[in-house]
Amino acid sequence: MRGLSLFLLVLIPFRIFSQQITLDRVEPPYWWTGFKHNNLQLMVYGKNIGSTTVSLDYPGLVLRKVHKVENPNYLFLDLTINKAIRPGVATIGFKLRDKVVGACHYELKERKINSARRKGFSAKDVIYLLMPDRFANGDTSNDVSAGMIEPVDRSNKDGRHGGDLKGIRDHLDYLRDLGITALWINPLLENNMTRYSYHGYSTTDYYRIDPRFGTNEDYVKLSDELHQRGIKLIMDMIFNHCGSNHWWMNDLPTKDWVNQWPEFTRTNYRAGTYNDPYASRADSNKFLKGWFDITMPDLNQTNPYVRNYLIQNSIWWVEFAGLDGIRQDTHPYAFKEMMSDWGKRMLEEYPDFNFVGECWLNNPASVAYWQKGSKNKDGYDSWLPSVFDFPLYDALNKSFNEAEGWNTGIIRLFEVLAQDFSYPDPENIVVFADNHDVNRYLDSQGDDVRKLKMAMAYVLTIRGIPQIYYGTEILMTTGADKSGDGPKRKDFPGGWPGDLRDAFTEQGRTTAETDMFNYLRKILHWRNSAEAIHTGKFKHFIPEDGIYIYFRYNSQSTVMVIMNNNEETKTIETRRYKEFLDKHNSGIEIISGSILNDLSKLTIPGKSAEIIELR
Ligand code: CA
Repeated sequence: MRGLSLFLLVLIPFRIFSQQITLDRVEPPYWWTGFKHNNLQLMVYGKNIGSTTVSLDYPGLVLRKVHKVENPNYLFLDLTINKAIRPGVATIGFKLRDKVVGACHYELKERKINSARRKGFSAKDVIYLLMPDRFANGDTSNDVSAGMIEPVDRSNKDGRHGGDLKGIRDHLDYLRDLGITALWINPLLENNMTRYSYHGYSTTDYYRIDPRFGTNEDYVKLSDELHQRGIKLIMDMIFNHCGSNHWWMNDLPTKDWVNQWPEFTRTNYRAGTYNDPYASRADSNKFLKGWFDITMPDLNQTNPYVRNYLIQNSIWWVEFAGLDGIRQDTHPYAFKEMMSDWGKRMLEEYPDFNFVGECWLNNPASVAYWQKGSKNKDGYDSWLPSVFDFPLYDALNKSFNEAEGWNTGIIRLFEVLAQDFSYPDPENIVVFADNHDVNRYLDSQGDDVRKLKMAMAYVLTIRGIPQIYYGTEILMTTGADKSGDGPKRKDFPGGWPGDLRDAFTEQGRTTAETDMFNYLRKILHWRNSAEAIHTGKFKHFIPEDGIYIYFRYNSQSTVMVIMNNNEETKTIETRRYKEFLDKHNSGIEIISGSILNDLSKLTIPGKSAEIIELR
């Protein structure tokens, strides 16, 4: 059980007549004054708490309505927080037949100055994605935590390995040195599941960091230490489903809290059915209401209490931990009108915030449907500012492996960007070569490091917000055993006490790893101040002879990127590019540092990329 005292809750369980009344939870555990929306809905949980009448006495805080639901162990309290209210601690009283049976304190904190003005991540940033169980174990004392079912077992690829928040905090200077500016950590909330709990996508408590990762306060420390280093924090959230061991699963507030089926029914995972104009009701229903897994019950976001619960939960974490962004898991799997309400509310409270949804669809039109501002035929607007570029991921995984042809090879990269007209905001799309759910890029490229370098040069120079998966910088691969997801999420060498080597340090890296690390570091540090990449325009030329050339430019600077997908070195005449090259007579290649004094002909080695800042 969690420490409720943490949340300044005073719990007074009472036994009245023969009937026991308890107060076990109030969620959100506290709130803040000063939001645009002044409504708050508390979920109150305890044995027979629904039989009580509720009172509240605090100046400026109005108990507008008390909702009783099917289950007598719940109450939902609608509060209005007046604009002029002062932060403080209110007392909520519970009575049974006019006799007070208990009370709890409810705190309204003052928001931090500029909380509403926080800036989300953008194309100026580079996101580093890491899986917290697999990055570094900074505190072995939390590997086994009281009340948590699954113990640590590092020999099990699908088990918990012991990584934690302390381990991440211990390596922030490593991340800063690498040059990333934003950190997306796979979910950290409690996952008290029997097995396979390390990945974090089966939430069992929406207000608690899993104790095997640390405490809520440790998460705030991480946030502060990241911000001291100029690195943003992106929280991974899941509105679509919870874990089957979530505390409410044994005592649901309403039957329709989760989508119920006569027997276990899995989603068909066909996200396209949800916006397919020809989809059958059976298919779209199964997609939307089927469970993601037997251990992942499908939350019913059409239930207004569920809706409020999830929206408030996300705001609570933004305020509590000072977040700079959210990554929303399985975004289309949740009821889309509610997701739209969520996005709208977030942007009303935080106009400069950013959040990205996992809309795993394989063509730009389908992904674009989910980006805020999309002119969809059905009138739907997601209010989701950013999406992941899965079509580009797909193209990137094929391009460098294929022989050049009309439809194959590097033309795929050109074609996918040529469809950017679909997107309302192509600059606010997250681009990536791999992530925790797919094969590591090196594996998909037959361990060819040249291709990995090309992919990194590409995602770091095209439009959008690059995301790099942890371990890419040290050539981490899935390895021989490719079964399941575990091998895609290996432990970072050096993150565990007693590891044979420490790849967080140059001494602990092999020559090849150091070469890759330096390659990425070089581009990242350059990119961090390359405004033409952050906000510049994009122009590309149809690939010819396996060579793809594009430009990023603004009024101050122009960057030319050349990708050679051939095995052999190529020398290109540059007359075709004179609309950009006419104004320049030299350039510097960023990765090698070489100066180019003649731009009329350029020579580029096989399977490589060059990034040339024109002068
Ligand atoms: Ca640990």
